[in-house]
Amino acid sequence: MPDRDAIRCDACPVLCYIKPGRTGACDRYANHDGKLVRLDPHLLLDQAVARGESVVPFLERDREWGGNLVQPCGTFVTAIGAGTTYPDYKPAPFIISAEIEGVDMVTVVTEGIFSYCGVKVKIDTDRHLGPETSTVRAQGEAVGHVTTSEYGSQMLSLGGVRHLTGGSRREGTVTCDTLLDLCNGKPAELRIEGGAKVIVQAGKAPVVDDVREERMRVGCGSAAIGMFAKQWFGQVDEVVVVDDHITGVLSEHQAGKLLGVPETGIRLKGRRSTPGRYFQVAEPGTAWGGTNLDDPRTILKPFHPKIAWPGLRLLMVSTTGEHSVYFELDENLELAEKDLPPLLERSVARLKENCEPALSTVLFMGGAGGSLRAGVTENPVRLTYSVRDALTRVTCGGAPAYIWPGGGITFMVDVSRMPANAFGYVPTPAIVAPIEFTLTLADYAALGGHMDHVRPLAAIASANDHVHNVANPENPWPLEPAKPKRKPR
Ligand code: SF4
Repeated sequence: MPDRDAIRCDACPVLCYIKPGRTGACDRYANHDGKLVRLDPHLLLDQAVARGESVVPFLERDREWGGNLVQPCGTFVTAIGAGTTYPDYKPAPFIISAEIEGVDMVTVVTEGIFSYCGVKVKIDTDRHLGPETSTVRAQGEAVGHVTTSEYGSQMLSLGGVRHLTGGSRREGTVTCDTLLDLCNGKPAELRIEGGAKVIVQAGKAPVVDDVREERMRVGCGSAAIGMFAKQWFGQVDEVVVVDDHITGVLSEHQAGKLLGVPETGIRLKGRRSTPGRYFQVAEPGTAWGGTNLDDPRTILKPFHPKIAWPGLRLLMVSTTGEHSVYFELDENLELAEKDLPPLLERSVARLKENCEPALSTVLFMGGAGGSLRAGVTENPVRLTYSVRDALTRVTCGGAPAYIWPGGGITFMVDVSRMPANAFGYVPTPAIVAPIEFTLTLADYAALGGHMDHVRPLAAIASANDHVHNVANPENPWPLEPAKPKRKPR
């Protein structure tokens, strides 16, 4: 039997009984003198005076509003700290109206509980983190997998309903903790089966096998040849840009051909795709250009004796410029390593300069399901249509969300554009994420919104249980009028 003084929180399916002075299982709600209270303050964002002007450096996400550089009328009600409603049919905690440029707008906010959610992590590195589809583990538990790599980046897909609910209780809990850390800008240590240990944190350089990654590659080996062929032309006879995916060879590449680089008789291992572009010259790894090569000579076959000549100058460089070596052919057409001539040193430095700082980026991805949509309207599919038609703008803590085409409201948001500690959890386990729907009051009425729960902004903006922060000036202001794709259905 629950304690007689305990009160029941009904904000999620756990339905905690909370004793006086205690918090519920998620630490978001507490029993304060017999009253159920949401512990974190509800966050309102104020628009910076000059758009694009960095009033508060956004990485200092904990800094609060100073009160002097904002327009009093530009206030947006976020869902951060707004609370959750359960079960689904209850109206969202805040349905706020305001007049924007002569148009009555409404913003519906709620802290959604997401069982169907995860993060996509982009890790700017050439280094091989592990084979595609390999399991990614945190604290020994499977929390996701390696997915298709992208241009200069390795990609992880973490979370999802199968890891949150389909495995052991510990797997679900660890998955939830890992997602929560990553979404709230904290580091997570991940181990990839058959691959590397990697520490990722949104907006920070990844650490692969205890080595902090400095730069992402300039492009694949073929792209690097195309970009720098002119700078190499005349300074060196042959260049090989070593890359795990596409290794480039200057004399054979179209860029070299158009410049008139003569044949050198170079011969490479691997599979020739098109002239000057080779696949699979080595195994993937964490050395030269994301291969397992410590000595790039091993990808070369002997030079063609009828074409090559003694004194032929060869530069081998990786796609980040992190590795480079210079050879000249001796009388026997064997490679003799020499110091890099100053002009080539400069070209390698230029290649490095073109490599951007390596970062880890984290996108939260979720599906706005029953409780969210029913909290907005009595006819949930109409909200889906309204979002699809761009009549309703979706934001997360004021940050813009990308809506996937197709059915449902499946969205992605860059967590580093959101205010600090915007995410929470409930022990079902599931992630709690803020989500706001903004549309005109007329459209809201038309889609069957909870009109009798609409409150004016003025009724809450000055209350002292809300905090004001300056909006991230890099985000579009969420209350700017939407540009609908088509007329309401
Ligand atoms: S886990 Fe949190 S939201 Fe859910 S019932 Fe308990 S206190 Fe309320």
